[in-house]
Amino acid sequence: MGYNEEKASSVTAKSKFPREAFSDVLGANVNFAADFQGSALTGTAVKGLAIITCMDSRVNPLVVVGMNAGDAKILRNAGARVTEDVLRTLVLATYLLGVDRILVMPHTDCRMAQSEEADIHKTIAEQYGVDTRSLEFRTVSDQRKALITDVIRIRSYPLLRDGVTVGGAIYNVTTGALEPLDC
Ligand SMILES: [Zn+2]
Repeated sequence: MGYNEEKASSVTAKSKFPREAFSDVLGANVNFAADFQGSALTGTAVKGLAIITCMDSRVNPLVVVGMNAGDAKILRNAGARVTEDVLRTLVLATYLLGVDRILVMPHTDCRMAQSEEADIHKTIAEQYGVDTRSLEFRTVSDQRKALITDVIRIRSYPLLRDGVTVGGAIYNVTTGALEPLDC
């Protein structure tokens, strides 16, 4: 095989699905699918809600607001920040998928609100020897101020559908309570 052919085949080669690493996931899904009741739901948010929240594994956003699959759109990232991609998704969700209210929902004890941007770069550099400074992690030094900024960023986004209501609330991971904030 010539160099170019080798290169081409390595570009198209597929790795086998890593079953061992996901064995619990696949095993649990077999049980889930066995009991799964066929659903008449579509991709439209039945309750008209979108929640932007953090990737924190303690936050179960649908459960927090007493909803189920099909009710709401859930957007997640580190720190529940309103990024370009969140805005892109909200435009689609509000015009095409039934969303008419948006809740930005960061949480207490968030890693992204405990460190400066530079400290996180330093931690990763020290532990892994990788320079991540080309990324902006969007850490926050004042979570409430950042939440207000993010809510206003959505409200003032010119491409968002008219009539959409936007609010901000902080989820307390210790008590389970939501604290609505004036934004
Ligand atoms: Zn978080």
